[in-house]
Amino acid sequence: MTTLFISDLHLEETRPDITGAFLRFLESKAQGAEQLYILGDFFEAWIGDDERTPLQDQAAEALRALSDSGTRIFLMHGNRDFLLGEEFCARAGAALLDDPTLIDLYGTPTLLMHGDSLCTADVEYQKFRAKMRNPQMQKMLLARPLEDRQQMARQLREMSMATNQGKAEDIMDVTPDDVVRTMEVYKVPQLIHGHTHRPAVHSLEVNGETAKRIVLGDWDKNVWWLEATPGQEPELKKAAISSF
Ligand code: MN
Repeated sequence: MTTLFISDLHLEETRPDITGAFLRFLESKAQGAEQLYILGDFFEAWIGDDERTPLQDQAAEALRALSDSGTRIFLMHGNRDFLLGEEFCARAGAALLDDPTLIDLYGTPTLLMHGDSLCTADVEYQKFRAKMRNPQMQKMLLARPLEDRQQMARQLREMSMATNQGKAEDIMDVTPDDVVRTMEVYKVPQLIHGHTHRPAVHSLEVNGETAKRIVLGDWDKNVWWLEATPGQEPELKKAAISSF
């Protein structure tokens, strides 16, 4: 029995190496897995399920094949693909998860998040996030013609690249106090998230007990995944994308 966690693949047309690695991941590591969780930013951009690109179809078909073979697949939104909807999930044979979601990981209560909501020092981004996660705002956005949304996505991306260049390193990371607060609210000894592109396993104290924060890695030069099996500590693993 194995449960796998991945995030931040940022699939896009300009990175066929990442798409290739993902397809090979599904055909190798993920084969026979009980569950596969994708914790956000699976795609670099998402402007609505009505934009059907060959890349999206390829990803959906590959996930569907894994799902048909018996692996349960869960998808969580990231800050890039938060408009990903039920239509894509249905095609991929995946279930859409709320952020955060509480699961029982082989006996350990575990909180799953994308991670961007923990980066509270970035006040400007949190304002933007609150606006974009408003259901009415999303409805309005999705009602715009596809070409408008494509244009908007390009602009957003340029803006994000320009602002993030000037931001201090620690602003782009989670706020440690908010991590503890969140874990205390949910009473969990384990948190798994992505987003920050700082893969690591952190020890911390929550409600006076030892707890763990596992940060998944982004797929770029390396392929990262977390492997959980009953009775063992979850293991954060990586492999060079070139050799994967
Ligand atoms: Mn992200």
